[in-house]
Amino acid sequence: MIAVLRQGVSQEQTSSLCDWFKTMGLQVHISEGEYQTIIGLIGDTSKIDIGLLEGLSIIESVKRISEPFKSANRKFHADDSVVDINGVKIGGGHFQMIAGPCSVESESQIITVAEAVKKSGASLLRGGAFKPRTSPYDFQGLQAEGLTLLLEARRRTGLPIVTELMNVNHLPLFEDVDVIQIGARNMQNFELLKEVGKTNKPVLLKRGLANTIKELLMSAEYIMASGNEQIIICERGIRTFETYTRNTLDLSAVPMLHRLTHLPVVVDPSHATGMSWLVEPMAMAAVAAGADGLMVEVHNDPEHALCDGAQSITPEQFDRLAERVRKIREVIHS
Ligand code: PEP
Ligand code: MN
Repeated sequence: MIAVLRQGVSQEQTSSLCDWFKTMGLQVHISEGEYQTIIGLIGDTSKIDIGLLEGLSIIESVKRISEPFKSANRKFHADDSVVDINGVKIGGGHFQMIAGPCSVESESQIITVAEAVKKSGASLLRGGAFKPRTSPYDFQGLQAEGLTLLLEARRRTGLPIVTELMNVNHLPLFEDVDVIQIGARNMQNFELLKEVGKTNKPVLLKRGLANTIKELLMSAEYIMASGNEQIIICERGIRTFETYTRNTLDLSAVPMLHRLTHLPVVVDPSHATGMSWLVEPMAMAAVAAGADGLMVEVHNDPEHALCDGAQSITPEQFDRLAERVRKIREVIHS
């Protein structure tokens, strides 16, 4: 980190500022120019509040040279992290498909979809029990009953389950869940991130609707700082000025995240596009871009789905998608 001092700052002011930096365990490197003094700070500057420094009357500007995320940073962990979900590995060359309905609606729905996606090659079952809906009048999910049905689907198929947690108070209900999903709307719910960080369960962290890649990684850092390193990052599209699609899938986020972090990266082409016919091409593009997995919404009767029917594909369409994804993977690994 570099701090540029204002002109006319005295020697005493400079040295007391440097002493303060040293009390924070940082090494200080001063370079005095004809008009300006620059202080280089070496060490763990992640805990420094830039706003506080910039507010000091003797400082003109502050610039971070390295990223503020440490645990998630590839610089300090060169190898890919592999998240192991009861034997289902993701990351570091292990590719997985997470599939299932937006919401759990009934026992027959979740079992039918779970059995079908398993047959097509999905290795994890998704399904929302607690749903973050834009309108309070929309279906809010079957909640605790939805979790029970997901566990039943796991018992019948063996597929580990991924489901969204929205409220810290619901955590005891998630005892038997395999992967806790933190949805786009809660990506910056820092108290929730700290709590899932205290669990020993893998977390699927989705990018917020209007969040940068850096903010996404800082949210991963929150979970890691609380002790949980098993994080799968999910790109699910961001809000732009485009209106033909529900969101804009930021595919460059995949190689960018791989460069910045060692955590596995999956892509959700369903929420990214909002339209079922766009799911397959975007899934293939995501795989070609190097995604470690996909999260796809699959419904046995999309027209009557209680949530996100327009972007849900049928089990038959998922079967075709899975086949095409396999072919893309063969090409990129040949
Ligand atoms: C979901 O996966 O069901 C969901 C609500 O996604 P997102 O948080 O990305 O909108
Ligand atoms: Mn959905």
